[in-house]
Amino acid sequence: MEFDMTLVQKTMDNLKKRQFRPFFVQTKEDVLPLLKTLVAEGETVANGGSVTLGQTGVDAWLKSGVFNYLAPLQTGTEKEKKDAIRQRFFADSFFLSANAIISDGRIVNEDGASTRVAPMIYGPDKVFIVAGVNKIVNTMTEANARVKKVAPQNCKRIGFSTPCVEDGRCHDCSHYQRSCCTSAVLNFSRVPDRITVILVGEELGV
Ligand code: SF4
Repeated sequence: MEFDMTLVQKTMDNLKKRQFRPFFVQTKEDVLPLLKTLVAEGETVANGGSVTLGQTGVDAWLKSGVFNYLAPLQTGTEKEKKDAIRQRFFADSFFLSANAIISDGRIVNEDGASTRVAPMIYGPDKVFIVAGVNKIVNTMTEANARVKKVAPQNCKRIGFSTPCVEDGRCHDCSHYQRSCCTSAVLNFSRVPDRITVILVGEELGV
């Protein structure tokens, strides 16, 4: 895809000012070689659901056996499943994407159960956000519009039956599968470089 490298550079400069650690790579194939210099085999790792992590091979890498991967439980009691998810707070490294990255350096994520944004905010010593440059926007208004544009697509992809799946529009629903329950905006990292942002010069994710 065509993209504005000046905008990417401005975004990276502003991410740095907010004590995030930005990188830029040209292609999705460049993501894993970079990550392999930043994450050691044997670490305890976990991730939030993300199309981008699948497209870049990160998802498969985390599950490849070289890490202590904290997988969500498919069977067991509700308590066991909840305890497994809670373990994410103790991961060394946590991986996810972003719904939008504002060129002023703020990072926006919307979540349903909030099991993706919670360890992003607190817990793991290292957080890795991988995002295509298509996620960069200029204002919070644009970021919110992007969230509401992609939420119906994500609900459809996951197989939810929220009202937006029918017509692609948000109804500010009260559905039990609502995917837009928590809006998390990262404005600054008090711990310098805790959050690494890898921007990829391709269209990735939803
Ligand atoms: S609030 Fe409900 S209807 Fe609106 S986008 Fe989110 S899940 Fe869909």
